Amino acid sequence: MFARILFFLGALLLVQPTAEAKPAVDDVRLGIHPDKTRLVIELTEAPGFRVFSLADPARVVVDLPAVEWPAAASQDGMGLVGALRYGLFTPGTSRVVLDLNRPARVLDAFVLPPRDGKGYRFVLDIGPADGAAFLAEIRRPPIESDRPLPTIAVALPAAPSASGDSRPTVVIDPGHGGVDPGATGVSGIYEKDLVLGYGLALRDALAKTGRYRVVMTRADDRFLPLRGRVKIANEAGGDLFVSLHANTNASRSLRGASVYTLSENASDSEAAALAAKENKADIIAGVDLSGQNEVVSQILIDLAQRETMNLSKGLGNILVSSLGKSLHLLKRTHRYAGFAVLKSPSVPSVLVEVGYMSHPDEERALRTPQHRAKVIDGLVEAIDQYFTVQQAHR
Ligand SMILES: [Zn+2]
Repeated sequence: MFARILFFLGALLLVQPTAEAKPAVDDVRLGIHPDKTRLVIELTEAPGFRVFSLADPARVVVDLPAVEWPAAASQDGMGLVGALRYGLFTPGTSRVVLDLNRPARVLDAFVLPPRDGKGYRFVLDIGPADGAAFLAEIRRPPIESDRPLPTIAVALPAAPSASGDSRPTVVIDPGHGGVDPGATGVSGIYEKDLVLGYGLALRDALAKTGRYRVVMTRADDRFLPLRGRVKIANEAGGDLFVSLHANTNASRSLRGASVYTLSENASDSEAAALAAKENKADIIAGVDLSGQNEVVSQILIDLAQRETMNLSKGLGNILVSSLGKSLHLLKRTHRYAGFAVLKSPSVPSVLVEVGYMSHPDEERALRTPQHRAKVIDGLVEAIDQYFTVQQAHR
């Protein structure tokens, strides 16, 4: 049976970790045993935990308190595990998501005390399961430590209110974050870190003009569900939503920035594939989408959204000409695709893929302040031009 009960390790466990001194993870490793695949997370303190399984695609999720993770946010899998990711999930909680190669069930989850120079070890054993056993697995309650973690709701953060600021509001949305690292560049850099740098630089550049109120969907390394991003844009009374991403492709010769706005149908299969990939952020972070996928599955686009789409198209064209002055752009660069994050009913929205992290030269450039400045200049110029046109039509 499942061990829902752990050894508890005396008073140490009762020490509530403070924000200043988070427990640290020293190692995350997988091992293959004849009958199971084992995940071991070595920590400086004994953690509380919660373990549960999700379907479509099959995943095992481990929630832990907020901890300091090693620099890497993802690892290749082995055994039953195809890949695993870890990072901050909500303020105060961390998450590990294991993508399963095939249906599996959790055999055991427990914490071992320090021994032989090793710290506390959280151990998760998973074994193969048939379809029926996996179905039972996703329906049963989570396995929790004796002192359970607080229930984690994926909080949708509230946006700061406009309070008398009459300047146009630009919402900047650095893609991915926390347990969702996004794509990985050839040097190993994660998309979430790269685009956060671009987002913060864009924020500073727009603030410097004095012409805009700027709202960030995230300004640090945290996970945000897609609908949380849309909610921030709407609640902030956003006049413009700019989502920043970086692309990868199996073909390493592909390079250039590209700009996307929303349409019911993606303009080509590559744009459709990209939208499908970016829309998986919540799945990647181990969010249970059953019963809350209204944003992702929204097909009917109301009139307000249609008008917003036209504004976004205009913005897309302006962006292409501004960015094109100093940057290599992908051919046919302004494309329409069904990105969930662009489906804000009232905020004109654009998604910019700043370049290809799979192209070695371009990836190197993307990491330099000089290249970033070029992209930011192009974005600020396009945003200026967009609002100039908008104001002329008022
Ligand atoms: Zn992305």
